[in-house]
Amino acid sequence: MGKVIIFSAPSGAGKSTIINYLLGRHLGLEFSISATCRAPRGEEQNGKEYYFFTQTEFESRIAAGDFLEYEEVYPGCYYGTLKSEVERIWNRGNAVIFDVDVVGGVNLKKKFGPEALSVFIQPVSVAVLEQRLIGRGTDALDKIAQRVAKAEYEMGFAPQFDTVIVNDCLEEALSEAEEKVKNFLGQQ
Ligand code: ADP
Ligand code: 5GP
Repeated sequence: MGKVIIFSAPSGAGKSTIINYLLGRHLGLEFSISATCRAPRGEEQNGKEYYFFTQTEFESRIAAGDFLEYEEVYPGCYYGTLKSEVERIWNRGNAVIFDVDVVGGVNLKKKFGPEALSVFIQPVSVAVLEQRLIGRGTDALDKIAQRVAKAEYEMGFAPQFDTVIVNDCLEEALSEAEEKVKNFLGQQ
């Protein structure tokens, strides 16, 4: 079994920004591309950020037992980790980075135990989170409201993670994340 790093946070807390930074640092990390049945956002491409499935495709993959975990993160909208992703990444000798919701994060930590580092990215406040989602400019206002409404509930999961990084000053959050990941991978 290889190593895995799990990132969870309310939407807009800065997970993608931090993960993309780490992926560019040549630490031997590879992103686990999840499957989802939400529509692509902005420049997203099938097979890069996500595998975009229809709801029917997603449900047949559930029935086939293809997922390591999956959640209905928003009503009618599934997200899940394919078993084949983890195998693909480990076979290349890399550690896996997951970007999953808080419930998925806690479940994956239980599955991988000491081979996993689970990181919760915490926004400074829900108001700042909302401003960042508006600033990102990729979601309609009703989708932003749905994400903000869930944020308080999601923040309650922070104590179940190995470590929490508050994403206030981005530079500091990036170096803290890199430090923790290198430590976990035994690279320093
Ligand atoms: P997530 O992947 O958790 O949904 P993103 O990484 O897309 O969040 O970040 C949401 C928005 O906030 C993006 O526009 C991003 O550039 C911006 N952002 C991330 N971290 C910070 C920060 N520390 N200060 C200001 N803006 C930030
Ligand atoms: P978004 O629509 O903003 O890309 O993602 C919404 C939420 O779904 C985020 O919290 C993200 O981490 C989560 N998510 C993405 N992929 C997965 C997955 O494979 N499993 C689970 N449980 N959550 C996921």
